[in-house]
Amino acid sequence: MIHALHNAVTHNSVPKAGTVLGMLMGKHPEFRPQAKEMSAILNEVLIEVEALSPEERAEKLFELAPEMLSEKKEKKEKIRGLRALKNVDEKGVVMRFAPNPSGPLHLGHARAAYLNDYYIRQYGGRYVLRIEDTDPRRVEPENYELLLDDIKWLGINITETVYQSDRFDIYYEYGRKLIEIGGAYICTCDSEVFRDLKNSKKTCPCRDQSVEENLQLWEKMLNGDFPEGTVTVRVKTEIDHPDPAMRDFSIFRVVDHPHPKIDAKVYPMMNLSVVIDDHLLGITHVIRGKDHIANTRRQRYIYDYFGWNPPEYHHYGRMSIGDVVLSTTAIKEGIKSGAYTGWDDIHLGTLKAIARRGILPEAVRNSMIDIGVGQTDIKFSWENLFAENKAIVDPVSNRYFFVENPVKCRVAGAPDMTAKALLNPNDESKGARELVFKQELFVSESDLKGCSMVRFKDLFNAEVSYDGSEYSLKYAGGLLEDARKNKAPIIQWLPAKDNLRCTLLSPEGNCEGLCERGVLLEENNVVQFERVGFARIDSVKGENVTAYFAHH
Ligand code: GLU
Repeated sequence: MIHALHNAVTHNSVPKAGTVLGMLMGKHPEFRPQAKEMSAILNEVLIEVEALSPEERAEKLFELAPEMLSEKKEKKEKIRGLRALKNVDEKGVVMRFAPNPSGPLHLGHARAAYLNDYYIRQYGGRYVLRIEDTDPRRVEPENYELLLDDIKWLGINITETVYQSDRFDIYYEYGRKLIEIGGAYICTCDSEVFRDLKNSKKTCPCRDQSVEENLQLWEKMLNGDFPEGTVTVRVKTEIDHPDPAMRDFSIFRVVDHPHPKIDAKVYPMMNLSVVIDDHLLGITHVIRGKDHIANTRRQRYIYDYFGWNPPEYHHYGRMSIGDVVLSTTAIKEGIKSGAYTGWDDIHLGTLKAIARRGILPEAVRNSMIDIGVGQTDIKFSWENLFAENKAIVDPVSNRYFFVENPVKCRVAGAPDMTAKALLNPNDESKGARELVFKQELFVSESDLKGCSMVRFKDLFNAEVSYDGSEYSLKYAGGLLEDARKNKAPIIQWLPAKDNLRCTLLSPEGNCEGLCERGVLLEENNVVQFERVGFARIDSVKGENVTAYFAHH
């Protein structure tokens, strides 16, 4: 086990039995006579190792033989991946991402989207985007566009897109088949009456209708002869099932509300449409939240009636996301009342809001893969997301000075000079920006508070004095060592002329200041305002910049 794990961790893939066996025999020639038995044991061990995610492998190895991991410690920290899927053949996997177009996507959707995407990348195959627009009350025409936009931003490997609203004839066809084979019936009971019967494990009279009677009622239903709420199609399950939610659940209903794409009266419920689509689209593996476990059980009845094999399911735990608003209803109301500026208001957990704050899709992907497919409920960590984003933007983003609540100060005795500051200290080839000092500069008063000396970054040192109402600055030479000796803080500053006004917005509040002129060319980019943090330049209009704070 240890050798198999070590090999898997080192090469980030499960080794072949022969490789491990060869290594073992080399190290322990005394085992050679038992090669056959060992090979059988090894095959089992490798199946076990295969089922673990790269992280779990490293953890297990750490448990069993920490000394083998210590040499690879750095590598261990970089391993990222999900546990293997079972039942994957040479054609790869067929998976789907199936959002409802009730609003734009948020972080919760991103988890489903990226986990499925991970496996498509891993095994190859098809990735179906299935837009589940079967509830006309929750579909607004503009939502389709919003959703497709978000999918594009996520950068997932979608190979085909289907709309459930294009597939109603298919659902009707299979609904009819289910009735014909005695797997479903039309129920015209009052919903309360049905609920009481069901809760006391009793069938309703409609369950005993003949197939012919059911088919007649089905035609009437499709004809629009039943008003909303007076009829439903139910699957015959077990009326004495210990879980009342499994008992004769509903698969079609009448909805009297216009749908933006189709003219229909009878709408499939998700348990019907999802089974028919998963089967007909050849879905092999389904990764979805734990909140669908009951649906998976319900759907099993439909698979059984049709004699189909269900896909392999994985249900991941709940993920609570603090500090942002996620509910579509709350967002819609907030936008209407003016509390939020739109779907991309930075107080929201929508992908649009996150993008606006300068978080890149790759950072969201990495966070979601790290969270993984485990069943344990977890709290989403903004800190981790920010750390992932920083790892991506830090090496590439340009640096600029930002001065909050600036005041203009003269520096007595200072020579005129031009400071050169690297655009990115990790990459000198990007060059430097030039900041001109002529007698005066802008600085944030709060940076001078309590200091006897400061160093203006990339410029010079200055002595600071305060007379109770104003600060005065006196040139104190250019040497960095002097600043260090005097424990002078290094602070950002700006030339007296040619800066841009900059409003920096964050969910916690806004701040006003000035920034370097170079930011003119950074619209839509993430930059680092030195000592403030990373920010996305949202717009540059004339001399005015609007930026969104991302993270430190
Ligand atoms: N449309 C469903 C949802 O967004 C997903 C259905 C499924 O995963 O089967 O919750």
